[in-house]
Amino acid sequence: MAGRIIIASNRVPNPLQGKQEAGGLVVGVREAIGDRECIWFGWSGKQIGTLGTPQLKETRVGNIAYITVDLTVQRYRGFYAGFSNEILWPLCHYRPNLMDYSRSDWHSYLDVNSFFARQLAPLLRPDDTIWVHDYHLIPLGKALRAQNIQCKIGFFLHIPFPPWGIFNNLPNADVLLQTFQAYDLVGMQTMRDTTNFVLACRNCRIPMHAQAFPIGIDCEEFSKQAATGEDSEEFQQLEKSFKGLSLIVGVDRLDYSKGLLERFRGYEAFLRRYPEHRRKVSFLQIAPISRGDVQRYQSLRRSLEEAVGNINGMYAEMDWTPIRYMTRTVARSALPALYRLADVALITPLRDGMNLVAKEFIAAQDSENPGALVLSRLVGAALELKSALLVNPHDPDEIADALNQAVLMSIAERKSRWQALYQNVSSNTAAAWGKRFLEALSKEKTNFYESEENSL
Ligand code: UDP
Repeated sequence: MAGRIIIASNRVPNPLQGKQEAGGLVVGVREAIGDRECIWFGWSGKQIGTLGTPQLKETRVGNIAYITVDLTVQRYRGFYAGFSNEILWPLCHYRPNLMDYSRSDWHSYLDVNSFFARQLAPLLRPDDTIWVHDYHLIPLGKALRAQNIQCKIGFFLHIPFPPWGIFNNLPNADVLLQTFQAYDLVGMQTMRDTTNFVLACRNCRIPMHAQAFPIGIDCEEFSKQAATGEDSEEFQQLEKSFKGLSLIVGVDRLDYSKGLLERFRGYEAFLRRYPEHRRKVSFLQIAPISRGDVQRYQSLRRSLEEAVGNINGMYAEMDWTPIRYMTRTVARSALPALYRLADVALITPLRDGMNLVAKEFIAAQDSENPGALVLSRLVGAALELKSALLVNPHDPDEIADALNQAVLMSIAERKSRWQALYQNVSSNTAAAWGKRFLEALSKEKTNFYESEENSL
């Protein structure tokens, strides 16, 4: 495949971000690009008062030019906070009742995608390949076609795609689905999402080609960091503070999709129904605040603090705290050693496109003494990580039973489950994901031809 690669994602990574701090998307995309010329285009993360003439900011590192553009406060509210995060996010996580729909946010969403397309189009060459990422930018492909861009364009959705019966709660659901037609290839995280998506399109009589490309992590790098991190002072302190206790760990953004309240109910059921574990376990939940300016997230935060307070109030002893809970972000580079120290990972979102933390936990384990993974059946990763203890996150008793099983699990069983899980995580890496998608895209015949319908 010749020509440049153009990546479009709502947020553009920090060009100076090292491998240690980069997530699956960034690692995967960078590896897949290799040494080809690349533009990485998106929003700068900055909000400005009024737009005037849009200023593109370019930072070049090696073969990648990172090009960003600012958004006005009004566009940020309608496109990003509004339509993307208060409408599409809950909808795609199977929670249409949490949508806060407004027609003006929908118009803002289309308007910003057209705006991005107008900024990007003049930078493009006919032999470029464009790869658009995630729910913020679904109509970008169509908006680029309206600018007469005829390059190959692929799209990857990082979050789940729900069944049509849920998706059609969105006013104009069929109009949004139509915009996918501008892409030569649509990628989803799992077969479940792909099937939902294709059936939704079929319902609207929209011919569509989609495929599952489950995203992975940089397994080797994670394993390496976990092993070397054990020598750090931070790790030694942590180890001392959990000495003699089985450590259960959870790491999730503070989001209603992560099932944190339900998880705390499960942990409470575990302490209540299996009192023999009290004083012998400790649960550390890391839940960095995200979207803290949104009211729903603020009230979730209050409910979580109350739930933690209740459990600690009910079960704590003078010298034992059942849950430690923190809302600060932990540097990604510090997580592998924490995962390795943990005896159990408790990862129970109500819905998640993939869930990279589950894969990171597996990568970070010591092969001679691996921890056990308790994982929600409802995340994308559960379709691959079948040797985990899979639970329904809505059932506190099932979580409690799985925790009991995990804490008591023999070393032989932990090893055999972990080997199967590690095999999966180490073979389906972030790099392999990126390459698979771009290869599949290169084999597609571009289905775009100019037509009236392609104008947004
Ligand atoms: N993460 C982090 N610091 C934290 C919490 C999470 O760096 O304090 C990282 C974590 O290592 C993982 C990502 O954030 O790579 C979360 O990805 P995941 O797919 O699990 O969930 P998302 O937040 O994308 O919904």
